[in-house]
Amino acid sequence: MNGPAVCTRRVMITLLLGLLTLAAGCSPNQARYDTRFLAFGTLMDLTIVGIPPDRAEQAAQAIEADFLQMHKSWHAWDPGPLGRVNRMLESGERFSAPPSILPLLRLGKALSIQSEGLFNPAIGRLIDTWGFHRNDPGGGRPPPPETIDRLLKQHPSMLDIEIDGLSLQGTNPAVKLDFGAFGKGYGIDLAVEHLKKMGIENTIVNAGGDLRAIGLRETGEPWKIAIRHPDGNGIVGSLEISGDESVFTSGNYERNFTWEGRRYHHIIDPRTGYPSVGSASVTVIHNDSTTADAAATALFVAGPREWHRIAGKMGIRYVLLIAENGDFHMNPAMQSRLKLADATSQKIILSQPLE
Ligand code: AMP
Ligand code: MG
Repeated sequence: MNGPAVCTRRVMITLLLGLLTLAAGCSPNQARYDTRFLAFGTLMDLTIVGIPPDRAEQAAQAIEADFLQMHKSWHAWDPGPLGRVNRMLESGERFSAPPSILPLLRLGKALSIQSEGLFNPAIGRLIDTWGFHRNDPGGGRPPPPETIDRLLKQHPSMLDIEIDGLSLQGTNPAVKLDFGAFGKGYGIDLAVEHLKKMGIENTIVNAGGDLRAIGLRETGEPWKIAIRHPDGNGIVGSLEISGDESVFTSGNYERNFTWEGRRYHHIIDPRTGYPSVGSASVTVIHNDSTTADAAATALFVAGPREWHRIAGKMGIRYVLLIAENGDFHMNPAMQSRLKLADATSQKIILSQPLE
């Protein structure tokens, strides 16, 4: 007589197990391989899940070699392809673009236009003047206002670079390319594409908190990403990432110096030539890292009043901007994903949804 009850219980147990397996991404407790190396001047953490350790190690070595090559190609100050491109752009002559630079140039131009020029990789001379690429930025003091004025009046813009197939021509000698605001993102995208080609489906490529994650972690759960508080005290909260997403943060704490009691950081507002005012940090979630990196910089410059418009133009759907005054600005979709470490101690200013 208890046949149907047993049968129902069996069906229930099977269903439950099925659901649990689904929730756990089908294959919990897989092999995990972690390694760390230096790239783009930051410590890069690479985690690979679900393949044997020897294959994971081989893959990691290939990725480390990729990053070394990229760093050489894109450094604006060391001799190399980008240095040559900068010299040729200044000369105004037409020339063939090095293959390692062309895709970045195309992407950089498109993203700069979308950001209304707030993300502007053509302001290398300004960056140079501030000296944030040096260990001792600006010799510890801001450049003379006349120097900044002179550079601003020359309006270096990505629109001053004509791209015709494989050839390039500069139309403004003040343009100097600096890929510092999105080169790391592009590098992570290339690394993830390479890892995917090697058959890796679960991995996280993390450059000092800027990262792209695909698949799931070894437990079969989503990756958990902590977001650092810009005031240096612990974390703001955490995000769960699965599938294929990038999380990038631009912050005023990353590189800066203090002069006569004022702090000067490394993210320059191309409209003023000075470190941008209003933001302490901006975190963006987006599918590809190139866009996420460029957008975090652009929205940082846009600040509490303009970030929403620029995010819309750049196609960004998740933004958290922590203002200099400590307020948290975010869109509703970000709010629903962000698990705040302390939900009571800050003012949250919720924007309209981002389409
Ligand atoms: P990120 O940390 O990604 O926001 O990038 C900051 C770096 O990008 C700086 O160290 C500069 O090299 C460069 N940079 C600063 N301001 C800008 C800007 N408005 N647009 C493009 N690149 C910038
Ligand atoms: Mg950036």
